Amino acid sequence: MSNLSSSFPDYWQTLNWDDLALQLRAKTAADVERALQSAVRNLDDLMALLSPAAEAYLEPMAQLAQQLTRQRFGNVVSFYLPLYLSNLCKNDCTYCGFSMSNPIKRKTLNEKEILAECEAIKAMGYEHILLVTGEHQQKVGMDYFRQNLPKIRPLFSAILMEVQPLKCEEYDELKTLGLTTTKPSHKNQAKSPISAQCADQNSAQ
Ligand code: SF4
Repeated sequence: MSNLSSSFPDYWQTLNWDDLALQLRAKTAADVERALQSAVRNLDDLMALLSPAAEAYLEPMAQLAQQLTRQRFGNVVSFYLPLYLSNLCKNDCTYCGFSMSNPIKRKTLNEKEILAECEAIKAMGYEHILLVTGEHQQKVGMDYFRQNLPKIRPLFSAILMEVQPLKCEEYDELKTLGLTTTKPSHKNQAKSPISAQCADQNSAQ
């Protein structure tokens, strides 16, 4: 995003999807090959790799993806267990069961329920937990995390979160409350994972 003060939805609204579709379809085999060979790929390269022209390059893309995965993560496999704290959501993503218009029973765990779930997860031997919510700032926003994260923290070696987008200072606050990392990967391992993610978000804007 070029304007740091824009929110993601604001930026999303400015995109001309017809124009982007035309650009995507105009990508050629040469664009795909350039993207595959590039040392540092940009959004234009991503468009080439997602274009119809890339269909003939699925095998080289798979090999490159495997190479980059090994380079970044080695042969490590981490196990964590998701704990769904709430299925409340104010969004309506068509692929998701949490979507606001989906007529399901909504539930947000209270402290007692969270601790009971944590005990059950611990009993299965898991040390890493992923806390998941839908996007509902009012009911499962920072106040909810402030209240519950410190109670969960002593029980696990690592806590990940997959929740609504937050501000960098809010991620920093969550870190002081016990958050180990968020789910997306990070480019800059020298910084704390959370600060690095914020830096990545800002540099992408
Ligand atoms: S939980 Fe996430 S993916 Fe599902 S509807 Fe809400 S915002 Fe969309």
